[in-house]
Amino acid sequence: MWGIIATWRMAVEGITEASYILENHGDAGDAIETAIKEVENFPYYKSVGFGGLPNEEMEVELDAAYMDGNTLDIGAVAAIKDFANPISIARRLSKEKVNSMLVGEGAEKFAHKEGFERKNMLSDRAKIHYKNRVKEDCLKSLEELEIKPYTGHDTVGMVCLDESGKMTAGTSTSGLFMKKKGRVGDSPISGSGFYVDSKVGGASATGLGEDLMKGCISYEIVRLMKEGMHPQKACDIAVTNLDKELKERRGKAGDLSLIAMNNKGEWGVATNIEGFSFAVATDKQEPIVYLTKMIDGHCVHEVASQEWLDNYMKTRTAPLVEK
Ligand code: ASP
Repeated sequence: MWGIIATWRMAVEGITEASYILENHGDAGDAIETAIKEVENFPYYKSVGFGGLPNEEMEVELDAAYMDGNTLDIGAVAAIKDFANPISIARRLSKEKVNSMLVGEGAEKFAHKEGFERKNMLSDRAKIHYKNRVKEDCLKSLEELEIKPYTGHDTVGMVCLDESGKMTAGTSTSGLFMKKKGRVGDSPISGSGFYVDSKVGGASATGLGEDLMKGCISYEIVRLMKEGMHPQKACDIAVTNLDKELKERRGKAGDLSLIAMNNKGEWGVATNIEGFSFAVATDKQEPIVYLTKMIDGHCVHEVASQEWLDNYMKTRTAPLVEK
């Protein structure tokens, strides 16, 4: 038995690669790293790896994490610049007993010494997005900027189970478009952006990091699964509760979308937004993209239509012009 689940449609090519590894009795660490690298390397995704959207200063600062559910080893990088595959650096760091989470220059020095591939991660398309955004923002009132400060963010987060029963979790993201230099979201933070324990299962998040962190929501889902809850129920409850708490205490809740899988290969997904997509492959199921929405505290998933899939790629790769 094996399985892999990931946030967003963009992960489907990656999890397809991972499924070949898992089918051939491969390791959950190799599978998840391969899958996430595939997303990092694809230039048309605006929120992960090369092509990721920059911060206020037009720099692409990336966050990534890797966790081994057997040993509970965690490695993470935050606000790292100019390296092609942050997930591989995070995985390498997970083998360190101390200094396993590095930020900024420290992460870059480590990656350089370890021989990881350097790359200018600011693509021409990302530069155009940046310039257009600067122009748009100039036309907006301060009030409008308050309401929607950042758009265009999606983290790839995955949970993987291999035939030996080992589970892993991984994340990679450029975080929020136009974030402040040095801003770190939930994605490299254990318990918030990801958590996995091979004795139970794992979870990973995408959405507004600042709000996801308020609920340590990936850990919360694993905790609920440990109590015997099915991953779907655990996701529904954790997302509904955090969304409710945030609205009650703060008047609003940011985007919260979670994926989870337990060590039996059962999975669940929940979100408080419209149009959240995710991808799953297991030994019993070819890679499939689903769309989901919350109806009365329970998320209902629907296989994405061919038309939706075609349109997705068309919009991602459409020519981009400077305004
Ligand atoms: N959670 C990420 C962050 O806040 C962004 C995202 O998943 O959309 O950095």
